[in-house]
Amino acid sequence: MDNSFQGLDRFAAGAQYIGGRPRPGTSGRAHTVVDPATGEKILDYVLASTADVDDAVAAARDALPGWAGATPGERSDAMHRFAALLAERAEDFAHAESLQCGKPIRLTREFDVPGTVDNTAFFAGAARHLQGQSAGEYSGDHTSYVRREPIGVIGSIAPWNYPLQMAAWKVLPAVAAGNTIVLKPAELTPLTSLMFASAATDAGIPDGVVNIVTGAGRDAGEHLVGHPDVAMTSFTGSTAVGRRVAEIATSTVKRLHLELGGKAPFVVFDDADLEAAVHGAVAGALINTGQDCTAATRAYVQRPLYDAFVEQVADLMATVRVGDPFDEDTDLGPLISHAQRDRVAAFVDRARAYATVVTGGAAPGGGGAHYRPTLITGAAQDSEIVQAEIFGPVLVVLPFDSDEEGLALANDTPYGLAASAWTRDVYRAGRATREIKAGCVWINDHIPIISEMPHGGYKASGFGKDMSTYSFEEYTQVKHVMYDNTAVARKPWHRTIFGDR
Ligand code: NAD
Repeated sequence: MDNSFQGLDRFAAGAQYIGGRPRPGTSGRAHTVVDPATGEKILDYVLASTADVDDAVAAARDALPGWAGATPGERSDAMHRFAALLAERAEDFAHAESLQCGKPIRLTREFDVPGTVDNTAFFAGAARHLQGQSAGEYSGDHTSYVRREPIGVIGSIAPWNYPLQMAAWKVLPAVAAGNTIVLKPAELTPLTSLMFASAATDAGIPDGVVNIVTGAGRDAGEHLVGHPDVAMTSFTGSTAVGRRVAEIATSTVKRLHLELGGKAPFVVFDDADLEAAVHGAVAGALINTGQDCTAATRAYVQRPLYDAFVEQVADLMATVRVGDPFDEDTDLGPLISHAQRDRVAAFVDRARAYATVVTGGAAPGGGGAHYRPTLITGAAQDSEIVQAEIFGPVLVVLPFDSDEEGLALANDTPYGLAASAWTRDVYRAGRATREIKAGCVWINDHIPIISEMPHGGYKASGFGKDMSTYSFEEYTQVKHVMYDNTAVARKPWHRTIFGDR
């Protein structure tokens, strides 16, 4: 294995990154980062306390005037250097991400890391292109224009499934718009968020602009969301925790951005390219071992293609190589933890009572948190396996007859993050894009994302957008500035107050 990983000694100073420096947490509570592929310990660290969160918010507040006052060009330059440094350190990031998450090294090298570099370059460019409504004399007597200003200190919370990309999606638009940020990564996966913040410092982004607190959700997380000096909360994670975050953020009147769970449908019409749909379903269901909020989880296949689809998906799943993330031949790594593997297995075991496990449905053995690609048929639409977010390598397939039925089934969960439709008929495709209630609808593909386009949900999948200029704008506030042009002391509209005096 060729890698340039610099080793774990760099985290010896602690798993907090505050004011441009790493330091240990002060909660007194130890946490261990575990390699899910082996169950072995990677790193022990001390979780952040609420006092650490206070320090991080103070560092972000102190850095705010300088960073918000920098010109867009200055911010852009620093972010371009940041993108270049991330590209230089790509192999190091890929290795650390694979190590802490169990992701196959091919995935981190070809998706997580280049995606993050591209996102950084995108926001470096976007920093110089904030758009506002044009200025003009709308009342006749005044000139109005819009200023887009940073919001202030942003408090962000991220999940463990794509730690590096989630850190990037939170930090980059916020910082490009002149805000400063405190990011709380998931306790299980702090390594690449810490490396990301330290690369920002090395690229010349001033101390305190990007801070990381690695603490537990219940104390450090809630303290960050409720903090009076935090102006906006941006959260990615489960819908259940999102509700709690929303309560706290609402009670402190914060701007809120929620990227929550998903249960993406995958609708195959009877004119679809079957081979493309089969490959798309297996790739879309298994990416990141199914721990992807947009993963294909429910395939609805029109009756004429149903049997062939099930058979071919089962055959293709059986060829997927489950194993060591650092073996370049491995297709599917472990789940994030043994607890998550057991949770997924429990969903599948409960489904055996009412559905058929066509393939998979078992752990392959060994010390890792692996689980075989699993295909389930015969489940009712209202069953748990069809409705609940499983977050594992599990695909459920159901048949449908009319186009109306297929689209109605696709919309029939509380979630609305992403969906795909498979057809060669442009009218069917158009109808699917209009009728499916999701933040992203793919036609004849499932999963690709790009920095220029927004990612975000409908319904219980949340609101707010990541990536793209839509997300950039969410990290700004709009101010209307209005100048009087008449230089008249007694203005005509004063009549409404003073009569004709
Ligand atoms: P989670 O909701 O358990 O945790 C997410 C983060 O919230 C973690 O950092 C955790 O420490 C923190 N947290 C937990 N309790 C908290 C509390 N009471 N207050 C504040 N913070 C708290 O989610 P997870 O298991 O880490 O990640 C998987 C979930 O994330 C899935 O539901 C998945 O769909 C979702 N997700 C959504 C998107 C999206 O873009 N919509 C992207 C990735 C993941």
